[in-house]
Amino acid sequence: MGRDPPDAARPDREGSTHPVTASALPETRTALDVLTTVFGYDQFRGDQAEIIDTVLRGQDALVLMPTGGGKSLCYQIPALLRPGTGVVISPLIALMQDQVDALSALGARAGFLNSTQSLPERRAVEDAFLAGELDLLYLAPERLGVPETVRLLQAGTVSLFAIDEAHCVSAWGHDFRPDYLRLTVLAETWPDVPRIALTATATRQTADEIVRRLELHDARTFVSSFDRPNITYRIAPKDSPRTQLVDLIRAEHAGDAGIVYCLSRASVETTAEHLNAHGIPALAYHAGMPAHLRAANQSRFLREDGIVMVATIAFGMGIDKPDVRFVAHLDLPKSVEGYYQETGRAGRDGLPSTAWLAYGLQDVVQQRRMIDTSEGDAAHKRRMGANLDAMLALCETVTCRRVQLLAYFGQDGPACGNCDTCLAPPESWDGTVAAQKVLSTVLRLERQGQRYGAGHVVDILTGKPTPRITSLGHDQLPVFGVGADLSATEWRTVVRQILAQGLLGVDSEGYGTLSLTEAADPVLAGTQEVRLRRDVRAAKTSRARKPAAAAADAELTPDAAARMEKLRAWRSATAKEAGVPAYVVFHDATLRALAQRNPVSIDDLSDVSGIGAAKRERYGAAILELLAEG
Ligand code: ADP
Ligand code: ZN
Repeated sequence: MGRDPPDAARPDREGSTHPVTASALPETRTALDVLTTVFGYDQFRGDQAEIIDTVLRGQDALVLMPTGGGKSLCYQIPALLRPGTGVVISPLIALMQDQVDALSALGARAGFLNSTQSLPERRAVEDAFLAGELDLLYLAPERLGVPETVRLLQAGTVSLFAIDEAHCVSAWGHDFRPDYLRLTVLAETWPDVPRIALTATATRQTADEIVRRLELHDARTFVSSFDRPNITYRIAPKDSPRTQLVDLIRAEHAGDAGIVYCLSRASVETTAEHLNAHGIPALAYHAGMPAHLRAANQSRFLREDGIVMVATIAFGMGIDKPDVRFVAHLDLPKSVEGYYQETGRAGRDGLPSTAWLAYGLQDVVQQRRMIDTSEGDAAHKRRMGANLDAMLALCETVTCRRVQLLAYFGQDGPACGNCDTCLAPPESWDGTVAAQKVLSTVLRLERQGQRYGAGHVVDILTGKPTPRITSLGHDQLPVFGVGADLSATEWRTVVRQILAQGLLGVDSEGYGTLSLTEAADPVLAGTQEVRLRRDVRAAKTSRARKPAAAAADAELTPDAAARMEKLRAWRSATAKEAGVPAYVVFHDATLRALAQRNPVSIDDLSDVSGIGAAKRERYGAAILELLAEG
């Protein structure tokens, strides 16, 4: 907790030992006052004001808002205004310290309780809570399974419950946490305390499940637009993904922080090594690593500039690093929801960012196989299959990616002009004959009681007399060489797309061999047309762009740019000394505003977005001194 939080940053606590409603407080500070004095922002965004008002009145709320939309303020401000402590349920134990540090830097009084603490540490937080000295208390959901925790909360005053990452309650979702099912205890034990559930996961199904499982039937629901206009979505044909990744980073994101997602732990390790070997500082993160190493890497990613984190999807939830400039996927995500969540970690600060996915035939084969061999029942497999189909449709679309993405969440909008398909529209072509060639090859092999993978099928089509082909006599098949009109790469694209369209299936024995599905019948019979997409190769789309951060800095005048450089160095030293991530001191946008305005007095600082009373007090003099030197 901040040693001496200035009074302005401290909400009026008079009478807080007896619960009173906010409106009954003698001198009521408004939500807007708190926004300006504590957070240093001058206006609410989107639904924030209404959400805060709802919770302040004691009503429950369900908030669906994309990453970077500003969910935290929706419970932090009511927690600062309502008597008692706002209890935040969050699954992100490893990030609680940073969250508490960020609040303390604003002069708010915050603490957390989780399994990483020593007993004395825990006692100190509990005592502060009981004494009414905490504005916010972060709690891991499993703590609610401990009767002492419930008794502790009952012994103090809870102003509200915020359930962060509320989609974790969804058993079908990609982040299911059984401990979230415990949260029914909140409604049962504290029927009069408002609950606000927040998530960046937007499907109707998930929202309905949250309402049902968290008993939020009377909650007001707030659904924001899920569009992230500052993110450029790109899905590239996969040739040699690691080389493509290095090219992308060098051309467009040199020196930027980014996240690279891989499916397997092994590929996380090799990709991180590959980047480092090419001079790009990268760290690895996956569930198979020892916990301390994982935590150390996460902490470095958050604290140091320009680090690339190569990770499995175990990484990233709740990471509120604002300046992640790109998110790259080297393997196909299992669902559009997952893809949206993961890519959403780019550009929380609103500056231009890239979401890049490399996608190829092998991804489709692998995912179909994984579904087939997975343990769940038939309904589960159907659901996974439907998730994959939606993801494949997004990859294969010839129209705007953003439109397709938002449509998945039931929202609509015009073509964005800023995704790969808008920037370089791919052609679609009549691939009926090509599809028939592939399908009849598979059919002929099936008639001989044989099944083969895509590579072998392509070899037959292109008439490649490999030892395997000749020894099997497949060069005698009537389809041998009927596809000489397309290259092997083009055939792989065709096979990928007809797999994606479900005209072919993949065997479940684990070899990735192809088989016909019923959907192939009308195509083979010539009664159904197949539309295919001609892939746009990298050369056409990757116009070398300036790294986003550098581009933003380039807009500064030479004097301002020099100040920006000094401010960055100062921030880095200050953050290091305090042991917090740089953005806890100030965001880039705030530094840039300082560099541009070159304030000379403490009063000037009040107008800069992101500087509230506590930060003005703490850093104001140092900043003015630094700028005056110049
Ligand atoms: P979310 O949790 O929805 O991903 P955050 O709460 O982390 O988003 O907010 C994203 C960023 O936007 C943060 O840097 C936050 O300080 C900033 N922010 C939130 N609300 C406002 C506002 N009203 N004005 C300016 N900046 C804001
Ligand atoms: Zn678009």
